[in-house]
Amino acid sequence: MKTKDILIIGGGPAGMMAAIRAAQLKKDVLLIEKNAQLGRKLLLTGKGRCNLTNIADVETFLEKFSPNGQFLRDAFKVFFNRQLMDFFESKGLKLEVERQGRVSTDKATSILEVLTRELHINQVELLLGARVKDILIDEKKVQAVELADKRQILCTRVIIATGGVSYGFTGSTGDGINFAETLGHRIVPLRPGLVPLETKETFVKKLEGLTLKNIRLIFTDGKKKIVSPIGELLFTDFGISGPLVLTLSGQITDWVKEGRRVAVEIDLKPALSAQDLDNRLLREIQAAPQKIIKNVLKNLLPQKLIGIFIRLVDIGADKHVSHLTQKERGRVCELLKAFRLEIKGPRPIRDAMVTQGGVSLKDIDPRTMESRLMEGLYFAGEMIDMAGDTGGFNLQAAFSTGYLAGEAAAKK
Ligand SMILES: Cc1cc2nc3c(=O)[nH]c(=O)nc-3n(C[C@H](O)[C@H](O)[C@H](O)COP(=O)(O)OP(=O)(O)OC[C@H]3O[C@@H](n4cnc5c(N)ncnc54)[C@H](O)[C@@H]3O)c2cc1C
Repeated sequence: MKTKDILIIGGGPAGMMAAIRAAQLKKDVLLIEKNAQLGRKLLLTGKGRCNLTNIADVETFLEKFSPNGQFLRDAFKVFFNRQLMDFFESKGLKLEVERQGRVSTDKATSILEVLTRELHINQVELLLGARVKDILIDEKKVQAVELADKRQILCTRVIIATGGVSYGFTGSTGDGINFAETLGHRIVPLRPGLVPLETKETFVKKLEGLTLKNIRLIFTDGKKKIVSPIGELLFTDFGISGPLVLTLSGQITDWVKEGRRVAVEIDLKPALSAQDLDNRLLREIQAAPQKIIKNVLKNLLPQKLIGIFIRLVDIGADKHVSHLTQKERGRVCELLKAFRLEIKGPRPIRDAMVTQGGVSLKDIDPRTMESRLMEGLYFAGEMIDMAGDTGGFNLQAAFSTGYLAGEAAAKK
């Protein structure tokens, strides 16, 4: 039977970083991944461009994981954004700081290449295409893990880094959360985080793939309002997505769960008041009174949106703008300021970018990532009850907790 110092379950960002760190500290490390390849979800990040981290300061980072951010303070003390960027840059990777401080690369594949190379250089043994089925414990101490094919590997330290349950086809199917629960850890119920929203209007399907830039969203339940900053919205075949929607999706999901009727008003021209818009429209009409409305709207809206916009505003597409009544102009301006969609609810957890919930923070020591219940058992990454905002925060948390778990397990 094989014996190892440290065994790591899950070859995502958290598991790979844990393995590299433990191996740097001269431990004999085995990384087990059930897929035939490492980092399948990592390759999807940032639409293949990977928002690796963010240049925000620690306090902002902790806020982005609210209400559980404080748990990450120790991990960030040991390995934060600067160290992560140095790690990759020192290995020749070019990183770019983009809007809202996100740090990205050209290709997520280059991130994976660096990690794979480092695993190799540090002599981490890889076991790919092998699913861990069980963790064997005796007298509250880790003894071994058992694979699906019944092979057992002896070890005194195990780091579980199996991810959440979203995008399950990448391998993240919640196995580690189940192991933790079986071993007596409390599990905070799993919910979708950073998730697209479904709308009642089915016409969105016709807008699928359209990105609206420089817009503002105002979610309302008739009483309360949530106003977004200016940003982007993406139409999907069932509703809306994009950074603004994803960031606010947690709050909106809660509203829907409470039985509130939620709508979103898209302010298509947030820099202009309704009056400014009316003036602008009047100027366009005076400049070209012979034009038909759909051609004038081309100066204000993306082509793909015009047909639906005209239908909603209830004006004939071929009406000459010189024939527009004041009321009709008013309706155009109103719709430009509040393009309204009714929210049905969030997409299922499988379509969420991250999983909220997971192994309770109460059962993990934040200074080491070790279980408070079992000796030699560590957790890292998204399977822990923490979920951050878009913009590189989740990967940083996975790398930081992975690094800390790897270091703590190696030093034990
Ligand atoms: C479409 C998409 C885009 C994203 N973009 C970004 C982004 O740009 N920036 C950002 O910060 N975050 C992004 N995220 C979130 C980020 O990808 C995750 O938070 C991160 O991958 C979590 O890392 P992890 O190592 O904890 O888990 P995972 O990446 O989920 O890795 C877990 C691994 O464990 C393996 N595994 C599971 N069970 C077993 C088992 N029983 N035995 C062996 N192996 C097992 C899985 O196969 C998997 O490879 C995105 C997520 C998605 C879905």
